[in-house]
Amino acid sequence: MVNGSVPVLTVAPAEKSVMRSQPIHAFTVDVEDYFHVEAFANAIHRDSWPHLEYRCERNVYRMLDMLAERSVRGTFFVLGWVAERSPQLIKDIAAAGHEIACHGHSHQLVYRQTRQQFADETRYAKGLLEDLTGTAVLGYRAASFSITKVSMWALDTLIDLGFTYDSSVFPVRHHDNYGIPEAPLGPCRMRAPSGRTLIEVPLSVADVAGLRVPVSGGGYFRLFPYWLSRAGMRHVERKSGRPVIFYVHPWEIDVDQPRVQAGLVSRLRHYNNISRCEARLRRLLQDFEFGTMSDVLAVHGMLPVPSRTREDSVIGRPAVALS
Ligand SMILES: [Zn+2]
Repeated sequence: MVNGSVPVLTVAPAEKSVMRSQPIHAFTVDVEDYFHVEAFANAIHRDSWPHLEYRCERNVYRMLDMLAERSVRGTFFVLGWVAERSPQLIKDIAAAGHEIACHGHSHQLVYRQTRQQFADETRYAKGLLEDLTGTAVLGYRAASFSITKVSMWALDTLIDLGFTYDSSVFPVRHHDNYGIPEAPLGPCRMRAPSGRTLIEVPLSVADVAGLRVPVSGGGYFRLFPYWLSRAGMRHVERKSGRPVIFYVHPWEIDVDQPRVQAGLVSRLRHYNNISRCEARLRRLLQDFEFGTMSDVLAVHGMLPVPSRTREDSVIGRPAVALS
């Protein structure tokens, strides 16, 4: 982007899909604590983070237990700040068979960083996670999905840093922090300003009568009754054949987290139906078949099949025509 002009969003079509007997969706966790969220950015100064009650570890271990009960592997987009604080946690997530991906380091919105700041902190966080797990980190997700039309340059940075895919684009128009309304709804190759492309895995929306309704988790999953979320996801699955890209945060199952004195909208966004989230997640894990982001991309022919999935399938049952 030069002189503030908005780059044109162009995409190449996704490679040929590979048919499976059952669709597979991505279960993803953005690993951060309640005080990292953008909704509280005005109420909690980042200098105070090290001194606040830290609850991320216990919540992630509860999520790991929940996933283990259903033999589900997911992708954990880990904030570098958390990886520094909880190195053993990151090792334990990886040891449980989940994919480790990068959620940046500072949880600062991409378009509020300079390109140099973004490159420096993302390189640092990726290196930290790779050192902890001994495995290449393929995926990136920006804080609050903040790769938008004004920060498309970040795709070039991600390519330069060696990422294989990004999952930061939310194809909606109504949100104050994020959204590229005309972005594709499924995995695709998205063109960066340099002309190079990166695999983009957008968060899921159901296209209902021309309206793009988010059915991808987070606050929407807590806001809508479970039957409505499930119907939206089935719509994505059956009408479009696209994978559902679902996300949740560890603090969304933490009913005892400290209550932050923020504005009414921020509190509604953060605390709405927290007490219902864990039970809904358990139903979700029963009702849909989930894997990691890399598993989903392998099924769609956009990534090689991970070596373990050749042995024990993507999610623990015989794989169908994966390659
Ligand atoms: Zn986040």
